[in-house]
Amino acid sequence: MINVTVWCEYRQAKFQDDVRAVYPNGIKEAIKDFLDKDEELNVRTACLDDPDCGLNDEQLNNTDVLIWWAHVAHHEVPDALVKKIQERVLLGMGLIVLHSGHFSKVIQAVLGTSCSLKWYEHPTNCRERIWCTDPSHPIAEGIGDYFELEHEEMYGEFFDIPKPDSVVFTGWFNTGHVFRSGCTWTRGYGKIFYFQPGHEQFPIYYNENIQRVINNAVKWAYSPKRRPELDCPNAKPLEEI
Ligand code: ZN
Repeated sequence: MINVTVWCEYRQAKFQDDVRAVYPNGIKEAIKDFLDKDEELNVRTACLDDPDCGLNDEQLNNTDVLIWWAHVAHHEVPDALVKKIQERVLLGMGLIVLHSGHFSKVIQAVLGTSCSLKWYEHPTNCRERIWCTDPSHPIAEGIGDYFELEHEEMYGEFFDIPKPDSVVFTGWFNTGHVFRSGCTWTRGYGKIFYFQPGHEQFPIYYNENIQRVINNAVKWAYSPKRRPELDCPNAKPLEEI
């Protein structure tokens, strides 16, 4: 079994009617719902307002792949937790960052750049065509040449990220913008995937292609041979190695 933690900030669904209308129980439960259909996955959810953000040491150690969606409260994630997540990625925990998570302290720490981009604040009629630009990559399995999202927030280049190992997907918007929508990296023993779709006002996570990509990404990001220190009680903190 692959232990997956779906972490969502889970603030907007509590006080924004338009978000709750699309995701009554938050994006975290919508993602869990489709991942639960995969019998190889053991999925739990966690959010910012849980004790220890739902990511205490035991919960982190039991996470093989961490999925991260956040938007309005990046600054509330404790720096100490960010450091622990970064260390676990280096030790082999998979990390999948979705949509506005591009500005999270987690991905900034792991990748080392600002991860800034161009965007439209009030998306009204942005249509996105997501092209597969690395069809042999495991994350693209089952995905055709492209698929479309009728409504999505526009994210455009320049996206300030380190050069990806693979740009699995490239998004084109009817505004004329393009974006590296699906990118992979490795850091230490860990695999990282950033995936751009997922604005909270649109039913993106009910789209079968989106679900397929995220499910594929979980399988790809899972590293069964994690660095042994993770399970060793006498392991030194990373900075002492
Ligand atoms: Zn958004």
